[in-house]
Amino acid sequence: MEYGIHKMKQLYKDTVKIAYFSMEIGFHEEIPTYSGGLGILAGDTLRSCADLEVPILGVTLISNKGYFIQKFDDKGMQIEEPCEWEISRFMQEVKQRVSVRINGEEVIVRAWRYDLQGIGGHLVPIYFMDTDLEENSPEMRKITHRLYGGDRRYRLSQEIILGIGGYRILKQLGYYDIAKYHMNEGHSALLTLELRKDLTDDGTWDIFDEKVEKKVHNRCVFTTHTPVPAGHDKFATDLVKELLGDYLTEAEYKKMCPGEGLNMTLLALNSSKYINGVAKKHGEISREMFPGFRIDSITNGIHTAFWSSEPMKRLFDKYLVEWKKDPFTLRNAFNIPLEEIWAAHHEAKGELVSGINKKYGLSFDREKFTIGFARRITAYKRPYMFFSDKDRIRKIAESSGGLQVIFAGKAHPKDHEGKKIIIEIKKAMAELSDKMNVVYLENYNMALAKKLVAGVDLWLNNPQPPKEASGTSGMKAGVNGIPNLSILDGWWLEGHVENVTGWSINERPSIGKPAAVNSRAKELQNLYDKLENVILPTYYDNREGWMRIMQNSIGFNGSFFNTHRMVYQYVLSAYFD
Ligand SMILES: *Cc1c(COP(=O)(O)O)cnc(C)c1O
Repeated sequence: MEYGIHKMKQLYKDTVKIAYFSMEIGFHEEIPTYSGGLGILAGDTLRSCADLEVPILGVTLISNKGYFIQKFDDKGMQIEEPCEWEISRFMQEVKQRVSVRINGEEVIVRAWRYDLQGIGGHLVPIYFMDTDLEENSPEMRKITHRLYGGDRRYRLSQEIILGIGGYRILKQLGYYDIAKYHMNEGHSALLTLELRKDLTDDGTWDIFDEKVEKKVHNRCVFTTHTPVPAGHDKFATDLVKELLGDYLTEAEYKKMCPGEGLNMTLLALNSSKYINGVAKKHGEISREMFPGFRIDSITNGIHTAFWSSEPMKRLFDKYLVEWKKDPFTLRNAFNIPLEEIWAAHHEAKGELVSGINKKYGLSFDREKFTIGFARRITAYKRPYMFFSDKDRIRKIAESSGGLQVIFAGKAHPKDHEGKKIIIEIKKAMAELSDKMNVVYLENYNMALAKKLVAGVDLWLNNPQPPKEASGTSGMKAGVNGIPNLSILDGWWLEGHVENVTGWSINERPSIGKPAAVNSRAKELQNLYDKLENVILPTYYDNREGWMRIMQNSIGFNGSFFNTHRMVYQYVLSAYFD
């Protein structure tokens, strides 16, 4: 990797050339500027860029009340509390300010800077946009409070601050020479309008003129993240006109809001030369969803050093000296003695188990097989599926030598169905709790995720295919030697080798063919059968076989599903042309 880094520095001559825009960036356990996968991917990406000395910067919103802190009432209903944090403990306010007109009001925007430091000292600045200033009206002050909070008007205001405000602040800060604007999801797509305006500031060209489009194209990169239609932002034309006012002419509004209104994904697609989905399958699905666009795929990754548990890190340091700089080195996990992998895992598991027992007054046992499941709780992820047949679960638990189950996850505040699912899971857990250890942990976040993905024995994921774009928590488990039991969808289609790196729940679709339609009942049957007949017997009766699967998870999957590899692919395919 050294050579690649050197080459990149020469090409970029050390000036910042890439601006990475994301509605959320999660990179620090105490900075709650993320809700889940999208933000954590953004954080891991920038962290790898810092290690690899890629000349990039990040732009996002400050979210000074975070996403939310999750608690539960006695009935299992989710309660959402604001997450207050002190910005100035972590970040420096920059002097420069810009203003953006929203609904006829001049909104002053400031920015905070955090320097993410790479392994060799390289700094990647991240700018956090903030409207909470005395100069602004109470309504406008709130724009950067809550990540994904409020109504459509609130969301569009946020996207105006991120896209237009973000573009302006970079100019104000003196970044005149940005070669690529990378939109991590469509939320920041309004930056393409500001870029168009910038390219036509002599006033002679129409901002959608062909010549302008070409220049915009050359400068924009777009990564789409979800095959679920609700994940693609749309705004009614009236609302767009109301908030943006005379920012665009009537003719420009017509171009930008054809038919059903402003579609941020389409705006980003139409503005970008390089477009990608986040796993091979997701690339395929995105090409079907958006015919006529050239859509590549770059499979997501995780920052290996950030997500490895302390005991695993010590083990890697001992046997794979270069692993932090060059995670491909994790292939050499095949030379780590199995017992030492087991010991490192056992230590991480001990920490998780004692933490849970202390906080929840439970008696989880570190010698017993433990399943972990944690993600956003929403219907298509089918979080209740595992609990569908409680008698079967009891039977498996009794016949196998022991089964423990840990779940966690937040439902979006407006996802009432998601909140109901949590209540149902908690009810099912209460029914099972006489026979086995079960717990629903509150407030799933980065700190908790770190403990979970290293401390359980099996990582379970059973979304409705083909709706998982990639998924990354299973990769975090993999680098910690935790095998996955998962639906073949997203990254697992690429990381799964049956009985080698883990297990599948559904059948593998043939390449280039649509996914085989497995009924939910069949999938559930598979899930229980594999647990009962393959997974638990291996864990309890063939410990060496189990340890080999752990080693394979690190060697095959840890070495590949990381953001270092991913960033290299972005540099080659998206940032250079
Ligand atoms: C990694 C992570 C996610 C994303 O994982 P998925 O597999 O996509 O669900 C979400 N939330 C937290 C806190 C994480 O650490």
